[in-house]
Amino acid sequence: MNAGWRAIRGPLLNPLPAAGVDYWPDGVLVGDDRGRIVAVGAWEDVAARLNLAAAEVPRSRGLILPPLLDAHIHIPQHPIRGRFAEGIGTDPPGGRLLASLEKNVFPAEGRCEGPAHARHVVADFATDTLANGVIGGAAYMTVHARATRLALEHLPDTWSVGLVLMNNHCPSSLRTDEPGLAEDVDALARGFGRRLIVTDRFAVSVDTPLRREGVALARRHGLRMQTHLDEQRAEKKLVEEVLYPDVGNYTGVYARDGLLEREPILAHCIHLRSDEVDMIAASASSIAHCPVSNTLLGSGVMPLDTIRAAGIPHALCTDVGASPTTSLLCEMAQFLKVHAATSAAATPEEALRLVTVAPARMLGLGDRLGSFAAGMEWSFIEVACDGPVPTDARTAILVGLLRMTANDLEPWRQADDPRAVAIGRLRDQGLEWGHDLAVLDADVRATAKRLEHRVHRVTRAGSVVWESRGV
Ligand SMILES: [Zn+2]
Repeated sequence: MNAGWRAIRGPLLNPLPAAGVDYWPDGVLVGDDRGRIVAVGAWEDVAARLNLAAAEVPRSRGLILPPLLDAHIHIPQHPIRGRFAEGIGTDPPGGRLLASLEKNVFPAEGRCEGPAHARHVVADFATDTLANGVIGGAAYMTVHARATRLALEHLPDTWSVGLVLMNNHCPSSLRTDEPGLAEDVDALARGFGRRLIVTDRFAVSVDTPLRREGVALARRHGLRMQTHLDEQRAEKKLVEEVLYPDVGNYTGVYARDGLLEREPILAHCIHLRSDEVDMIAASASSIAHCPVSNTLLGSGVMPLDTIRAAGIPHALCTDVGASPTTSLLCEMAQFLKVHAATSAAATPEEALRLVTVAPARMLGLGDRLGSFAAGMEWSFIEVACDGPVPTDARTAILVGLLRMTANDLEPWRQADDPRAVAIGRLRDQGLEWGHDLAVLDADVRATAKRLEHRVHRVTRAGSVVWESRGV
């Protein structure tokens, strides 16, 4: 092997940019001294071509795959992950989402005003995401410019971070400092460029003048935006019938105020009408699809068939703190379950693509990350894989990564199984707290426990940046 090169050998999954996933039960990934990929493929082929000797190439500690990316996650909610809706009654006025924000989320975000606390939260977030193989994404911080700066400074450049805009339906201590906003955005954009993402929390929390100022600032600095859209029925009703009755639909609020022009990442997009789908498809928007959050909050099921057919870029994201874990493996498992019974069922290969190559493109990192090809970063994760080496991509993803069998998905397709019944109701009308949601909640939490922290090692551009202890 050339001096300065390094390589790793083992079962290797490679999600491809256009479609599909390559898999080699005995694969190898070769990098150069600058942390760039030289070659990827079957050991037999690559070793012969590059003159690699078996003795000089270490074996992996499990399945090798590209690092994961999470394009929708809330840093200040990391300490309350999985407790987002704790203590919320069965049918609160305005729905579970709005009640949870008020009771649990806003207090957690308010605490980040203090720099010591914010630093601690960001450090824990950085460690925990790495332990789950997540090396970048798009995150929400808070309304505080100081906390946003702290997050941008501490996290690697693969993370974009949002200064949150908010001036409506929120505690006065968590309102955007509107007179100082332009100066805050100028300073952050100067320091961090497009890693700063202008963040409209959602149409309930931001009025039109503030949204339009956010859009103008994003335009001035060439920044993109992120927000939430059509998450729950009660929220949609409030936006369309009470707050913006003259606009037509929820998506129309973002279109009218210019947000859709700023390449936004739109989280959830569950209750879209067809004219809303058309508006999104006609813009440069992407969708953050969060099946765990959508299940635990009883929000609904994103219409995957419609989003696929419209060609709208989308990726799987955790939406922590609504999810109990930063593990995107848990998100992949839930994706397969909630879409098991739809006309074009989700596949394991699709699930893997939606946490690697799809978010890499959405985040503008597609030339560095998300897939393995010569010239891209020699960045990869090694995930524990018990039992015999899988023989094909589907088995490697389902059994190796997600610790499931094909039979585990069967109940989710059976019309009379309680879990399939609950998903059906979630899709049709959303769920309040009750028997159906309790069944789904218990299943998600058990899956999260099973799949969390299964990553042995994370390598980024040639350097090990995280390694599990004692394995
Ligand atoms: Zn969110």
